[in-house]
Amino acid sequence: MRIEVENDRIRERKKQEYQDLVDEMDQKGFEANLEKISIKTANLFGIVLFILVSLIAYPIYYLVNGRIDPALIFGFEGTKGMLIFFGAYLVSIFVHEFIHGFLWQFTCEKKWGSIDFGFNPKTCTPYCHCCEALSFGRYFFGSIGPTLFLGIIPIILGIIFKSLFLVSFSVLGVVGGAGDLMVIFSLRKHRESRLFDHPYEVGYAYFTAKNGD
Ligand SMILES: [Zn+2]
Repeated sequence: MRIEVENDRIRERKKQEYQDLVDEMDQKGFEANLEKISIKTANLFGIVLFILVSLIAYPIYYLVNGRIDPALIFGFEGTKGMLIFFGAYLVSIFVHEFIHGFLWQFTCEKKWGSIDFGFNPKTCTPYCHCCEALSFGRYFFGSIGPTLFLGIIPIILGIIFKSLFLVSFSVLGVVGGAGDLMVIFSLRKHRESRLFDHPYEVGYAYFTAKNGD
């Protein structure tokens, strides 16, 4: 496992490592194709998700628990409540990446040895990268994890245990998985391919057998 703050040297190393994998797969008779996710589309999809998930989660909360106090929409009242909420949200951005790594390492041959965590100062975002090409099921498993564990499951728990904090926090958790959900949606086309989380593009590479082999 590597934990690093990205800089030009690390970016160059990532490019080299990616090229090495492409060459290795090429020798085995596979060619690399890129499935890129547009950041603009992912952001738009995030807004749609926010509206959609809110329109599902809050009415269900209301139906189950009888009332929603707008003053407690973040779980706690006032400015302090907002600060606690957004503090928790900031932490969850890092937890999101950790969940990707934690789930992918189970499926990697080198376990944690194949997981990189980092922070990109240019975009001010943390990232997780898996350095092994994975089968569809394994790649899917690590990709869906954060949306499931920081989004869908805690929304359900928030409704059951009457926690508006948990519901609001997890609605944002689903929104944070917008890019991952777009990746997952695109995976249906590459079920038979080996999938490699791209080290510096948003998206992944998929390896297909070269024609004529
Ligand atoms: Zn993610």
